[in-house]
Amino acid sequence: MIVAIDGPAGAGKSTVARAVARALDIGYLDTGAMYRALTLRALRTGVPLDDGPALASLAADEPVTLTDGPGGMRVMMGADDVTMAIREADVTAAVSQVAAHPAVREQMVARQRQLMQHGDWVCDGRDIGSVVFPAAEVKVFLTASVDERARRRHAELVGRGERVDLRGIRDDVERRDQADSSRAASPLVVADGAVVVDTTGMGIDQVVEHIAGMAREVAR
Ligand code: C5P
Repeated sequence: MIVAIDGPAGAGKSTVARAVARALDIGYLDTGAMYRALTLRALRTGVPLDDGPALASLAADEPVTLTDGPGGMRVMMGADDVTMAIREADVTAAVSQVAAHPAVREQMVARQRQLMQHGDWVCDGRDIGSVVFPAAEVKVFLTASVDERARRRHAELVGRGERVDLRGIRDDVERRDQADSSRAASPLVVADGAVVVDTTGMGIDQVVEHIAGMAREVAR
């Protein structure tokens, strides 16, 4: 079974998706982390962010490894642990540009399908229900108001000890919404058959229970 969770930046997809995977005792794949790791690698190696084919071969040449353990998900690029680095502001600012290239998406989608070809998975991203797994048994479009999403991201970063301003985060969330929704290749859309879950004012546990319940219903 595949549980596909798509939605805009800051809707809580990763937190919810990981918790749903735990509740169902199945695997979890964070596809945003894959695009972020590629972006980090491009920034470090100086591959231009507007060169789709070069970025795609960078992705092919050393795939990222994601492992979900008790301490949370670890993202490795070769022997390098980049779990924290891929969440930094420079990567966040550049990732939508990298993810917009069709050649990059082709690579990523092929790898995601390969990683999830066996077993049951919860997978979150922007195009999981629309492109990666259109036949997913459960499809959710997780969203919340821009203000709520900006507030959540702000609280998360402050919790990590970063000094950030709410206004700047709100602008970033809006900018990424705009970039992800308007790109030509696999824009962020509500996939056919997806259930829209608006989490504004809802607690995480409530959202997780709702989605896990949908999955249990399908598995029966
Ligand atoms: O989910 P997260 O915010 O970490 O994703 C980072 C970026 O990666 C998104 O803003 C989007 O540009 C891109 N992305 C994508 N397709 C996915 C997952 C992420 O284009 N399936």
